[in-house]
Amino acid sequence: MRRKIAAGNWKMNGTGADIAMLTHLAQRHSDPSVDILICPPATLIERAARAVEGSSIRIGGQDCHAAESGAHTGDIAAPMLRDAGAGAVIVGHSERRHDHRETDGIVRAKAEAALTSGLATIICVGETLAEREAGTTLDVIGGQMASSLPDTLDGSATMLAYEPIWAIGTGRVPDAAQIAEVHAFMRNRLRERFGQETAEAMRLLYGGSVKGANAAEIFAIPNVDGALVGGASLAADDFSPIIAAL
Ligand code: 13P
Repeated sequence: MRRKIAAGNWKMNGTGADIAMLTHLAQRHSDPSVDILICPPATLIERAARAVEGSSIRIGGQDCHAAESGAHTGDIAAPMLRDAGAGAVIVGHSERRHDHRETDGIVRAKAEAALTSGLATIICVGETLAEREAGTTLDVIGGQMASSLPDTLDGSATMLAYEPIWAIGTGRVPDAAQIAEVHAFMRNRLRERFGQETAEAMRLLYGGSVKGANAAEIFAIPNVDGALVGGASLAADDFSPIIAAL
């Protein structure tokens, strides 16, 4: 049985002043049977991890390098995230793929590094509006999955996030049937490639304009095991209703 998870991606937002939000969130959500993950910018990981100590909230990174260490100015390795207090990391977010020209191959290497370091790993996929309108969504998702997912992975440590690019930060959300179609497709592809056990263990997250007002409806869609939330994860009053809808 997969446990649903509310994951927040703060993106390039947050300074020390925002740690108070995590303290509030940790006080409000102490139920250990609820999975909550917050991915602040790397500069806050250590402080964030301290702020949520003893609560059911885990802290994650937003990206990692594929190498364990070395001459990669400005990059952060998966073991460094672990050392700072992260238990998870997002790889292959569409903003990384776009802003940093990350290919599926790079995303796969990052996912391998993250899983090797013992980080729970959220691998993101998603189509553009043009691809959706051209009717190629499933081809795009299938292609990204084929090339971005490592060949060997632990289903319970790996999550796959479907984030249609046109739904990110836009207030536009696919309808329930569209989300259901992609998530069922992803589950089937996982089954074909990794077998039933791994496919059933992996959590499939939906991301893109998730809010308190639509979270319950999204969580009720078959094969949706949680959400990856951007804007609505920045304030406790916005994120709490999403957690409550799990
Ligand atoms: P929004 O929730 O702001 O649309 O962002 C979604 C996202 O990109 C999470 O990774």
